Amino acid sequence: GHTVVLDGVRISPISWRQTVDHVMTELDAGRGGLLLTANVDIMYQLSQPESGDLADKANVVVADGMPLVWASHLQGTPLPERVTGADLVWHLSEEAAVQGRRVFLLGAGPGVAERAGAEFVRQNPGLQIVGTDCPPEGFESDEQYMTGLLDRLQAAAPDLVFVALGFPKQERVALQLLEHLPKTWFMGCGGALDMAAG
Ligand code: UDP
Repeated sequence: GHTVVLDGVRISPISWRQTVDHVMTELDAGRGGLLLTANVDIMYQLSQPESGDLADKANVVVADGMPLVWASHLQGTPLPERVTGADLVWHLSEEAAVQGRRVFLLGAGPGVAERAGAEFVRQNPGLQIVGTDCPPEGFESDEQYMTGLLDRLQAAAPDLVFVALGFPKQERVALQLLEHLPKTWFMGCGGALDMAAG
């Protein structure tokens, strides 16, 4: 689809509703992907060599912050609205409950993903939280841990994985897992599970 280029990053000019619909349509088509919610801080990091590749590797980038929406208007290529990870975890959970999609929560501190999951289910009865995983420090370079995690994910067979590991770790880990779970959608959600857990 068409994109708005902001500071060299291609952003999808879509609403949160269209973002949710896109992910669900992709799932219907048997395709997974990575959804990147880029705020101002992340946009800066995407302009640096260490993380620059992530903007291109993500299947969809949305604008997580009003400054990005304002900037898009100033340059004459308006984005319709801000689309935040903190909101998307709720909107995607709601649609997942409606459609019977399976959700897995990865990352955040001990107990946080379980509590966030319980909140998502409380708001959206029938939602299937098919697993949570709270990885220890340094897990991403621990081959044994990554293999175990991949096994647990493959057994859980999620449609959606919310990854709360902070940018850019959450996107790097998601891309690694996506290679083995090509029909699953991953979204880096930063502190959204902490917020949902209360
Ligand atoms: N986090 C984690 N493991 C890590 C780094 C971060 O589980 O190695 C979690 C952290 O507990 C929090 C989430 O990642 O739940 C978001 O972290 P941060 O606030 O740094 O990310 P941001 O919201 O700024 O992208």
